[in-house]
Amino acid sequence: MCEFVPDASLQLRGAHCRMCDMGEVFDEQILKGGRIMKDLGSKLAGAALSLNRRKVIAGVAAAVTVPFIPKVGHAADVDVVIIGAGAAGLGAARSVMARGRTFKLLEGGDRIGGRAYTDTTTFGVPFDQGCTFQHIAARNPWVQYARANGFEVGKMPGDDVSRVNVGRREARSGEYDAMSSRYDAAKAAISYAGRNGWDVSARRATQNVKKDKWTALAEFWLRVGMGREFEDLACKDWWSGADGENYYAPAGYGTMVAHYGKDVPVETGAVVTEIDWSGSGVKVSTADGRTISAKACIVTVSIGVLASGSISFKPQLPAAKRNALSRLTMGHYVTIGLKFKSKRILPVTNNAWFWVDSKSDEMFEFMSNMGDHGVSRANASGKLAVQLQEAGKDAAVDLALERLVDGLGPRVRDQFVEGSLHSWSKDPLVLGSWAGAVPGKTRPRPQIGRRVGRSVYFAGEAYHPDMWATCHGALISGQTVGKQVAARV
Ligand SMILES: Cc1cc2nc3c(=O)[nH]c(=O)nc-3n(C[C@H](O)[C@H](O)[C@H](O)COP(=O)(O)OP(=O)(O)OC[C@H]3O[C@@H](n4cnc5c(N)ncnc54)[C@H](O)[C@@H]3O)c2cc1C
Repeated sequence: MCEFVPDASLQLRGAHCRMCDMGEVFDEQILKGGRIMKDLGSKLAGAALSLNRRKVIAGVAAAVTVPFIPKVGHAADVDVVIIGAGAAGLGAARSVMARGRTFKLLEGGDRIGGRAYTDTTTFGVPFDQGCTFQHIAARNPWVQYARANGFEVGKMPGDDVSRVNVGRREARSGEYDAMSSRYDAAKAAISYAGRNGWDVSARRATQNVKKDKWTALAEFWLRVGMGREFEDLACKDWWSGADGENYYAPAGYGTMVAHYGKDVPVETGAVVTEIDWSGSGVKVSTADGRTISAKACIVTVSIGVLASGSISFKPQLPAAKRNALSRLTMGHYVTIGLKFKSKRILPVTNNAWFWVDSKSDEMFEFMSNMGDHGVSRANASGKLAVQLQEAGKDAAVDLALERLVDGLGPRVRDQFVEGSLHSWSKDPLVLGSWAGAVPGKTRPRPQIGRRVGRSVYFAGEAYHPDMWATCHGALISGQTVGKQVAARV
């Protein structure tokens, strides 16, 4: 049981446990009373998650405190080592840099951005293989960043331009009403459970909700943005997420993140294998045999990477920390790129959502001609996303096309040019899409992200209090922790 004492001696918004020495990282948004808005509609990965009557809407004891005083001994190579150059790592690095501290940012991959990755090679135009939409736009610093740096950014199209096909025809008004009613009923049950702090799965919360032929589609809308099946979706965690409008930048989310990181010194190809925190600071070792000593480190790798054990901690993380981390697992989500000869294959306007009600266990959501670049996309989530990544690009693209053929006919295949698939769940530097709570094990995200000892900090999408699973949540988490660490070293 942790017993927290504030870090008042440092005038920081933090605390640590006097029993196990786990640190608490508080987010300023929480302390300012950041409001959790709860229309469990459009959240996360761009899923269209709410319906209206007719159309589908597109779219998360100061005295006992020991201040951080590194022992005087052999000097550290740098003040801070930051592990991972995704949004969180870059945010942390810029915070540390702005405060004049020395650092090394070690990135295992060959580029910066992590799960923010705009691929411009496959189709010759920007295509986001990872994060794409600026969720919760009113609180999203990337929206301001886009505007300040000349990137076009704007709202996603509204519900009136999205569409569901039942077979080859659009759903009728009564069918939209029926879908809407199934969606509303399931959402209400999940919301009720979450609001009341019931740490149960969405499956359990909806067990008494009437089922009919629209249930699978309604559940798909509710779960797709979580990257999970209903069985794995924790209502309490879901309820803790903020909602808001989704924006989209045609140049690509990854392009913006790379732009933000362009002046940050990064060592790419530096795979961290060990963090030795047995001394007063840390010694971070890489796969190519280097060891860098620092007063502190900030670990921004995904929950999937931490769970895989590919980074060993010396000594191992305290049981409390291991227990906290095990409360989160990675979801699975794929975004399959589909280029057609014509930009007008899907029967909706640019950036609008389209669904085909056909096979309930193989559901996709499609987005048309994104950014008018001539590439559409098919998203799948949960078990299907895992299966598609196992099957590989050709099989994944083929299945997505098959669903489109169900709704639009064989001309889809005649028009098809090429596709793409990025297998995040198989990438050893990511191993999934984003973190979600295990039903029955939900804890506030910042608790899970507490620092260990005096020198090992954690930042990333998984730990933001209400904007978890997002690229801007990762950025804010990294900036906040970077600021804290810079003040301590
Ligand atoms: C398909 C997909 C779609 C998404 N859609 C959206 C969306 O529309 N909107 C949104 O806001 N969010 C979306 N997300 C989530 C968003 O991309 C992430 O929440 C965010 O980018 C995570 O940033 P991060 O810095 O926490 O982690 P990461 O981006 O994972 O950064 C961690 C970095 O650590 C590196 N690393 C890992 N292991 C090591 C090691 N041993 N040594 C050194 N470096 C290492 C990795 O290579 C990576 O660069 C999506 C994610 C996916 C996968």
